[in-house]
Amino acid sequence: MDRINVVRSSMPPFEEYTEEIRSIWDSRWLTNAGPKHQKLAKELAKRFGVSEVSLFSNGHQALEAVFSIFQEGSEVITTPFTFASTTLAIVRAGLIPVFCDIEAGWYTIDADKIEALITPKTVAIAPVHVYGNLCDWRRIGEIAKKHHLKVIYDAAHAFGVRDRGLDAAQMGDISMLSFHATKVFHTIEGGCLAHNDPELSRLFASWQRFGMRVEDGRAGEQSEIVGTNAKLTEFAAAMGLCNLRHVDEEIALRREAALRYRQRLTGVAGVILCPEQPDITSNYAYMPVCFVPETLGFTRDDVLARLSEKGIFARKYFYPLCSEFPICAAFKKQDTPVAKQISDQVLCLPLYAGLTTDEVDQICDVILSM
Ligand SMILES: *Cc1c(COP(=O)(O)O)cnc(C)c1O
Repeated sequence: MDRINVVRSSMPPFEEYTEEIRSIWDSRWLTNAGPKHQKLAKELAKRFGVSEVSLFSNGHQALEAVFSIFQEGSEVITTPFTFASTTLAIVRAGLIPVFCDIEAGWYTIDADKIEALITPKTVAIAPVHVYGNLCDWRRIGEIAKKHHLKVIYDAAHAFGVRDRGLDAAQMGDISMLSFHATKVFHTIEGGCLAHNDPELSRLFASWQRFGMRVEDGRAGEQSEIVGTNAKLTEFAAAMGLCNLRHVDEEIALRREAALRYRQRLTGVAGVILCPEQPDITSNYAYMPVCFVPETLGFTRDDVLARLSEKGIFARKYFYPLCSEFPICAAFKKQDTPVAKQISDQVLCLPLYAGLTTDEVDQICDVILSM
């Protein structure tokens, strides 16, 4: 039997990509905000409904650029139930992560628990649309407004998610989207910041080009801020242009697989699926399932092991909590019991465009026979 991995990168037709990169041979413009980069930024801005899209070499660098705008030593309220990148970007900018618990339904930050964590040092709230589940962004926006805080969304999982007409990329002051190979939409490696502030676009352009001021696409001669190198190459942008043409079909295929999982696993005692969010257009980025050991008599780790014996590779995503990482040992921590419980029980099952009904059935059969 072929192995089934937790994710599989989408690929455009081979000829479509080679056609897209042909002009790079002619121009020899390989990186430094070339024509592909510019075209991709424009198309994404249109799709997201924002005026500015700043592209980066990866999503993590984009997050680092955002957090660099705050004064060192400031506090950022965030979630421990996320990928390492969110926490690392905060810490690497010299900021202090303050971990807020999550809600039990969609595993996103619990808006009811944010205000108690605000101190005079708080500058921002950095929630994550975990698995593409949208945060309670209206409430979070109100809290931020009341306390004069910025809202920086880690929207790495949320490409294509919409709340009625509104794209996930529009929900805070700035949203970061990751275009890593494993994400719903990818540029092999890549990421962006979506926002509406041309002044920030200038800052981010400079930050990713050694802190040199960028004018008419040209970088200056000296570093004016402590920037870095985080440019998206033309080959990556070309992959993005191709994938953008197919991403909606890909999401439709993901949906089929996700719905099959729901048919097979809904209502099984001790197996908890995230309910679908009302009025939200999902991107079916992940298939998180919680396994309740008290009901089942076995644990999430047992499921992971049994699946892997059958050549099926699920992932403990996210375990452990970021707040439990050694790099966070020095930070004061609140109890986040809901996040702890979800992190102990959750397993992301394989989900990607092209995962067949038969394959979903095989996976569910293994789980249901335990
Ligand atoms: C993937 C991911 C990132 C980092 O993005 P890269 O493009 O891989 O650097 C950040 N946060 C979350 C939640 C992610 O899943």
